[in-house]
Amino acid sequence: MDGSLTYEILGAKFFGDLLANGFIRMSGTNQVFANPSSWANYCRSTIPSTSKDHKNYGSAWSIIRYLGKRLDSYKLRWYRKQKKQFTLGGTIINGQNCSVNTPTVIGSDRLYKLDKISAGDPEISILENNPNENIINFNSIDLNNKDFNLDDRTKIACVPFNSVFCLQPFLVTISTNVLLLIDFHSHLISTEVNGYLAGLWDPRTQHLTITQAFPLRCKSSKEFDSCTLKIKQNLVQKGLILVGWYHSHPRTAPHPSIADIKRQLKYQKQMLATKKDVRDYSPCVGLICSPFYSNNNNNNNNDDIKLTTLFQMFWVMPIFTMGNRNIGRPMQISYQIARDAFLTQDLLVEMRVLAAHFAVHQKFIKFNDTYNGESTSYWNKLQESLKTKLPRDLVEQQSQAVQNDIQQQALMHFWSFLKNLLLIST
Ligand SMILES: [Zn+2]
Repeated sequence: MDGSLTYEILGAKFFGDLLANGFIRMSGTNQVFANPSSWANYCRSTIPSTSKDHKNYGSAWSIIRYLGKRLDSYKLRWYRKQKKQFTLGGTIINGQNCSVNTPTVIGSDRLYKLDKISAGDPEISILENNPNENIINFNSIDLNNKDFNLDDRTKIACVPFNSVFCLQPFLVTISTNVLLLIDFHSHLISTEVNGYLAGLWDPRTQHLTITQAFPLRCKSSKEFDSCTLKIKQNLVQKGLILVGWYHSHPRTAPHPSIADIKRQLKYQKQMLATKKDVRDYSPCVGLICSPFYSNNNNNNNNDDIKLTTLFQMFWVMPIFTMGNRNIGRPMQISYQIARDAFLTQDLLVEMRVLAAHFAVHQKFIKFNDTYNGESTSYWNKLQESLKTKLPRDLVEQQSQAVQNDIQQQALMHFWSFLKNLLLIST
């Protein structure tokens, strides 16, 4: 938004634009600053230092205003909101339907390429499927050491924006139907799965809404182009834009590997390159889910939570000092979940097609088998995980007994539909 940021100090007033990646572009000079403090420092450096008050300028966050309001008020609001939101696994915090107020749709001409198809290619998923792996901290990487080389499989822990004193550059809402489909998809085989995320971007409110998942199901890499073309046509038809990608880490934590970070960074760059005007830019996010990762380390004794798939949404903050090494800091994207009103016909059809696609695969999960040597079967595990992502019409409401009966029946119907798809003997 042009000139939406203002900084007034010692009688001088500076204007800047807040860019979609959270950076600030100074009006007049077009210089770009990574954060409010660096912009404020620059502005101050242009003022003659004659005033005695010059040193008592206060924090940039408390002086710079966005649309007339101080930045730290946005920060505070963000932190409060973030506290309520979940980051890994978590619970649904939003009971609203996922429709948004007439968001602006900006073109559907983009569909970046996932580099490899992992579904059906066990070789690839072995790369990221080592349960004994170490997850390293980004700060432990020596950015100045040119010889420092990290294996593409190394995972780096995502950190929240407030840990690096930044605001998340955009808001994200994802609907339960999207999470339900991804959860279902990732449970079908013991190797990695991939797909795209589609939705809408409202540049006015900087709000990304993810309304649909498009699982990739190609039988071989030869089919890749025709698979993505079909998805692209489907997106255009629905008036959606591509807003991200997802993949699974079947048995490991949902932190991005170096390969994931490079991939995400590449997409972020593609988004910038394809848009002439920064106001047309829409962000993209990566989503990782870990269906069979037993999260024993978090001291959680609640079995239901242990059975629930962990999700992590991430975005990469580019690090410019790393030359062409193409890496950045993986940032945890905090998001809201909007509960859909019902399962759409599209979703049920997609589940049916997905199950049929993977049922013939040698890595297809045998849902009658016990999960992790415990008394639970893979089917029960899947059910527990999906229960948290059911739409409103299938969620029990204890206060309404009659409603409850109908819901129970509908839910039973849904479970038997899935059992049929997954070849579960009863
Ligand atoms: Zn990965």
